[in-house]
Parts: sequence; structure tokens; C-alpha cells
Amino acid sequence: MLHFDVMDGEFVPNFGISPPFIAAVRQTTQVPFDVHIMVTHPLRYIKALAAAGADIITFHIESEDKPETVIAAIKAHGLKSGLALSPKTPVSAATPYLSDIDLVLPMSVEPGFGGQTFQHNTLEKIAEFHQIALKLKQSFEISVDGGVTTEIAPLATRRGATILVAGTAIFRSENPKAVIDTLRSSAA
Ligand code: ZN
Repeated sequence: MLHFDVMDGEFVPNFGISPPFIAAVRQTTQVPFDVHIMVTHPLRYIKALAAAGADIITFHIESEDKPETVIAAIKAHGLKSGLALSPKTPVSAATPYLSDIDLVLPMSVEPGFGGQTFQHNTLEKIAEFHQIALKLKQSFEISVDGGVTTEIAPLATRRGATILVAGTAIFRSENPKAVIDTLRSSAA
């Protein structure tokens, strides 16, 4: 799938990727679009992102809209919902919503900038979410985003990560396809 980082310049001190850009890419491919919105008010973006061709919308629990309201709005557009956590936010903040979402995203870098180093405490969070999924018999995806490399990938999948988001590792590589193949082969 393709992962897009939408940034509003307020929730994070950076701008990136607008709905028209996503709509333009949608003209070229049918692969699932996983849209990660790092924005203060997720509710304002859902309609436009649904129209642009998003399949999954992942918003931050630290944003200012109520998570249950955002999840309901995403579902109302027939899309899958994801919940992202910044590195300092504990797993317990997300647990009340895990039965209502399709994906959880414990971020392994501070949101807002590419090229950062993977924060290793994220591995414990992945394992914790995996344990909760087993205990609750829930089947949400566990996605990891930020500083994911071919070295990090097996550490994450071994602990229960099911989606690996990689930007720099792929796009700064001389052989992006080989990196993608290696990431895929690290699936547990
Ligand atoms: Zn992202």
C-alpha cells in the first residue's frame, strides 16, 4: 500500500500532502491508500480525503477532536480507521478504542519530519498491542512508522507489527525494489 503523511503545519510544524495530491496519485493506481493525518482537527479532513481516494485514515489520539467521533466519521464514509500515537503517548491511551479501529500506529519517531532514527521503546509498544490483540481476540493491524529500515523490520514483525511504513529507507536507496523485497521478507 501507499502511505501518505498529511501535515497541517499546526499539529506538527511542517506541511505535507494535500487531498488534491492524493486524488492525483489515485488516478494512477488502485493500491490501497493509507492516509496518516498529523492534524489538530481530523474531522475537517475526512470528507476530502474520502473523496480523494483514501482507504484507511489514521489520525492522532493527541489531536483535539474526540477519538470516538473521528472513528465514527471515518466509518460513515465506508473507510477503515486507524489510531496513531506519538512516541510519548502510552499504549493505555489507545486501549479504549481498540475494539473500534482497524489499525493502530505507534509512531517510532516524533511526527512531522522524515529521516529520523527509530526509537527502540516502540518495540515494547508493538509487543504490548500484540498481546492486547491476542487477549481481546481483536484483529487490528499494528503498523510502525518512522525510521523503519531493513535492520529494524524483523525486530518489529517479531513483536507483532503487521505493516511496515518506510520512506527514507526506500526512497533514498539506490535499489528501492530490493529494499521493498527485503522488508516484505521480514514478515513474521
Ligand atoms: Zn506516517
